[in-house]
Amino acid sequence: MTTATRVLVLNSGSSSVKYQLVDMADGTRLASGLVERIGEEGGVADHAEALRQVARDLTGKGLGLDSPELAAVGHRVVHGGTRFTEPTLITDEVVAEIEELVPLAPLHNPANITGIKVARELRPDLPQVAVFDTAFHATLPEAAARYAIDAATADRYGIRRYGFHGTSHAYVSRATAALLGKEPADVNVIVLHLGNGASASAVQGGVCVDTSMGLTPLEGLVMGTRSGDIDPGVVFHLERVGGLSADEIDTLLNKRSGLLGLCGANDMREIGRRMGEGDADARLAFDVYVHRLRRYIGAFTAVLGRVDAIAFTAGVGENSASVRAAAVRDLEALGIELDPVHNAVRASGARLVSAASSRVAVAVVPTDEEWEIARDTYRLAGG
Ligand code: AMP
Repeated sequence: MTTATRVLVLNSGSSSVKYQLVDMADGTRLASGLVERIGEEGGVADHAEALRQVARDLTGKGLGLDSPELAAVGHRVVHGGTRFTEPTLITDEVVAEIEELVPLAPLHNPANITGIKVARELRPDLPQVAVFDTAFHATLPEAAARYAIDAATADRYGIRRYGFHGTSHAYVSRATAALLGKEPADVNVIVLHLGNGASASAVQGGVCVDTSMGLTPLEGLVMGTRSGDIDPGVVFHLERVGGLSADEIDTLLNKRSGLLGLCGANDMREIGRRMGEGDADARLAFDVYVHRLRRYIGAFTAVLGRVDAIAFTAGVGENSASVRAAAVRDLEALGIELDPVHNAVRASGARLVSAASSRVAVAVVPTDEEWEIARDTYRLAGG
């Protein structure tokens, strides 16, 4: 009899489905792929069709969903609310509860739910696990999780800071401890997940104690197209003076702000190129981005008290030496010193980029959300 050691990880986004098939016996990636432009011109009609496309792709690679070696399916679910604080084996009841959380993540949870439903139709006998983006942040103390607004109103509408990118922050904080040759329990890390979406977290002895995203993934750092922190008064001003509707303001802050709003480009590579040509808008976008990042480094240093490492991850964090350099420039007083030569080296693995004399280790740690989801899934599925 073959032992089932494979886990299929499904990440159903608002307009795409990413998948990865991992063999947990040895960590090999057997297949990965992406179905894009769901519901758009030239793409598949909907998420159900996208999932069937994934199933056909896998069958075409001889790795079909009917394989006896498949142990479980792991689903990334964006919002777990206060209900889901750990990876959870999916039942009808769990699906219903994830549906109840749709108002907290109207763009994301519906896509995740469709992914779960179709995968369960295709393999009803297989354990399926929901891994929540919010779960790693469930340990936030109330002082960090609560907004200072009327308590009854907050309770009534579930308004508190949930945090996102949790699988990445969990994976990277652990991998950073490993890079330092220490146990996660012995290390305090500031994780800077800088992708198209971006968030920071403060992880104390393996436990997340603060994070930059809040009720939704809009709060915190400057992102590709999202504003990050703004005065909520901006929203009322846009409504009263600008005459914008709630939906228009939502679109403005989520899709037309951040780097894109400041300079017309949301890709840090293009911004770097344009800065090289003396483009003032690109320069401003970079400066605003870095200023916010430094603010969070300072804030989370105070939250943690003692910082052992700062870890840069995701597209920008892993690849942009200039963002890393600007983020920690002149912070020797905080014990942070970069090694400019190490920082400039392009490499793919986890590595240190701080000077030997730096009290705080500065690391580049490639994230691996799929692996983290596969690991959580396999553990729950009895692997
Ligand atoms: P992610 O969401 O983690 O896939 O990150 C995507 C973002 O990473 C892109 O929008 C780029 O801004 C950024 N990125 C990717 N490669 C590079 C690079 N070589 N240099 C600077 N930024 C990069």
